[in-house]
Amino acid sequence: MIIGVLDLQGAVHEHISIIESCNDIAVRVKENKDLENLDGLIIPGGESTVLSRLLKIKGLNSGIVKKYRQGLKIWGTCAGLIILAKKIEGESMETLGLLDIEVKRNGYGRQLDSFTKDVEFNNNVSTVRFIRAPRIIKTGVEITPLLKIDNEIVAARTKNTMFTTFHPEVTGDTSFYNYFKESIIKTQVL
Ligand code: GLN
Repeated sequence: MIIGVLDLQGAVHEHISIIESCNDIAVRVKENKDLENLDGLIIPGGESTVLSRLLKIKGLNSGIVKKYRQGLKIWGTCAGLIILAKKIEGESMETLGLLDIEVKRNGYGRQLDSFTKDVEFNNNVSTVRFIRAPRIIKTGVEITPLLKIDNEIVAARTKNTMFTTFHPEVTGDTSFYNYFKESIIKTQVL
């Protein structure tokens, strides 16, 4: 498969390592032309305010939305999720607005409150890292939860997207990547 990773800022390299370790082809997406011929796109974690600004400067915001409307499958991790959300609590940052969710940035506190957690997902135990992670505070009807911690959604999907408030790629976990490939890109459900 050919998987793009938005390469403007953030945990780009880690996602590329996972993609290549699974024998797929990784494409660094820096311009709209890099969005051609992708099976899926990953929007990595980083700093959503910076991502938002760079997406706009490069015209990639409208480029990604256009491809999404044509069927591109997208996975947002952490800041990538924030960039996909329709609403950010208390802020007016420009996002792609593709997900009917409201999120609270830095929902668990500051950098020092980042933490690692073992979670059970898809019959597997994955170690994932929450790094100044957002909290999902409202979800619309088309959102299907995939994983909850203390009754809060931390991973979910729609027909053509997946989103995780945490980073699975920084610990080398491949189970969320495999789910994105097998159940979002290859399988049309819902
Ligand atoms: N706190 C960051 C933001 O608001 C997200 C952190 C991350 O992606 N690890 O953009």
